[in-house]
Amino acid sequence: MPETVNLSLDEARALSLAALEAHGANRANAAAVTDIMIRAEQDRCASHGLFRLQGYCASLRSGKVNGAASPKLRDIAPGVLRVDGDGGFAPLALDTGLPALAERARQQGIAALGLVDIYHFAALWPEVETLAEAGLSGLAFTQASPMVAPAGGTKPFFGTNPMAFSWPRPGKDPYVFDQASAAMARGDVMIHARDGKKVPIGTGIDPDGNPTEDPNAVLAGAQLPFGGYKGSNIAMMVELLAGGLIGSVFSYEAGRLDNKDGGPPIGGEIVIAMDPARFGDAERWADHCEALFAEATAMDGVRLPGQRRRKARLETPETGIELARSLYDTVTELANG
Ligand code: NDP
Repeated sequence: MPETVNLSLDEARALSLAALEAHGANRANAAAVTDIMIRAEQDRCASHGLFRLQGYCASLRSGKVNGAASPKLRDIAPGVLRVDGDGGFAPLALDTGLPALAERARQQGIAALGLVDIYHFAALWPEVETLAEAGLSGLAFTQASPMVAPAGGTKPFFGTNPMAFSWPRPGKDPYVFDQASAAMARGDVMIHARDGKKVPIGTGIDPDGNPTEDPNAVLAGAQLPFGGYKGSNIAMMVELLAGGLIGSVFSYEAGRLDNKDGGPPIGGEIVIAMDPARFGDAERWADHCEALFAEATAMDGVRLPGQRRRKARLETPETGIELARSLYDTVTELANG
């Protein structure tokens, strides 16, 4: 195991803010990006915590991302809102659009928010969990840059194209899942490479198209979708929803536009919100769905997604977070400008 350094969440937050501001983000953008990384650290989602800081800072320094972005919300159809991210990181654009999306979904049962001209480098659960905590069900999709070979292919084409879903549970933690359509999230492949660990067969292929357990060979070759052609079809759906539908880019287009500074590529995101009380079963939906969760979890070995994170969320304010020494050194160096 690599040597680790323990930090409180406040110490981690201060380092992140200092680093982002030192690399050119204004306070609003630095705070929104920091919040999203520290939420990931608090929930022990290491692949989307401070591990991402270097990429965020690189894209500020290279000038690819607008550190002073001022996202603009537009109302473009009765059920469709749009945020122009002004070439900034996704978190501030999401903060700009999510309250209006929730309000619109409550008014009419369902609404969608397209976010364009953003750079997304984060987990998706924060956006759908926010909706669930407001009593709504959420769906979110974003594309990335080409990393995943389509079923039958051997070259990177799809992004790792994550999807997240949430379901509100009055009086309880919401049901939330958030998963890539790749067999393993890119950040986790990178962490395996950093820590000298193998990845399972099926994670990816080397540059010659051969199955491999070597994470560096996967990074040089291509990742694979989960579940073969089924994950590949879902990855295509994410391209269409987060790229084609909302007038953003496809992963392969984002790859061609990217300056390869190690930060996120340009992209888009679609978030859909639904009010379960407006679909014809206002009286019964909550109890009915609780019965579903109870039946499923009555089986030995079954748990609901999101529970691991929620448990960690309660623990880390007390225990602090463990950062690999190499990551801690990188973060402090970035914070010193
Ligand atoms: P994981 O495979 O780690 O987890 C996927 C989901 O499955 C989680 O919601 C997890 O819940 C749940 N889960 C895990 N084990 C079980 C179980 N035994 N029973 C039920 N549910 C379970 O996620 P991925 O590696 O696929 O993705 C990691 C992250 O990477 C995601 O947050 C995704 O948004 C992000 N990502 C972001 C991209 C971007 O461009 N912005 C690109 C690609 C990925 P729990 O957390 O409770 O364990």
